[in-house]
Amino acid sequence: MDLLPTPDEFAVAGHPTRSVVLATHNAHKVTEFQALIAQTRPDIVVLAYDGPEPVEDGVTFAENALIKARTAAAHTGLPAFADDSGICVDVLGGAPGIFSAYWAGHAKDAAANLALLLDQLSDVDDPHRTAQFVSTIALVVPGEASDERVVEGRWPGRLARAASGGSGFGYDPIFIPDGQPEGAERTVGEWSAEEKNDASHRARAFEALAPLLAQL
Ligand code: IMP
Repeated sequence: MDLLPTPDEFAVAGHPTRSVVLATHNAHKVTEFQALIAQTRPDIVVLAYDGPEPVEDGVTFAENALIKARTAAAHTGLPAFADDSGICVDVLGGAPGIFSAYWAGHAKDAAANLALLLDQLSDVDDPHRTAQFVSTIALVVPGEASDERVVEGRWPGRLARAASGGSGFGYDPIFIPDGQPEGAERTVGEWSAEEKNDASHRARAFEALAPLLAQL
């Protein structure tokens, strides 16, 4: 349990608080980012954006993250950040990539996405099942001091042969991060939220974002 004050307690204690809008409708991402920001910047209040959703028609993670952050900043007048993320499988040339959420169709069905990916790789041996989670975060500051920044975090690993573990979301149950003790490797679906927040692609991108948030 961390002992840092919540943003409300921080404000009551007389410290200025700052609001930053997180442009996502993914509740898992809101929780992950709120936890990451609370660790380093308890003075920043993260508000979840609930305005109109833009069409994500970029062809890179960076373009899509910028589209989302620009929309939220323009709509709220507040600094806004957004992450666009996905899983990039080496043997598939980096796919699903920006199509990770829709890999099995527009229903955005996480179980179907994961099942399709496992099926596509059913004949691929372990050494060739390498993949990376990628998170690209765009920070857009509106108004006179307008600014746009993009940072990226990558989390290397490989794909399991079957799903295991019920925590996290999306492809977590089939992603085995590098760097685990041999014989005791687990998928992210078997990791706690705290373990994931210490190591994930979003945590890595957030590390690069933190100095930029400090300048707000
Ligand atoms: P986005 O919301 O457009 O960024 O789509 C991200 C998609 O990538 C999600 O729907 C998941 O399928 C996948 N993804 C991104 N980050 C993670 C993660 O931390 N765990 C599992 N899947 C993820």
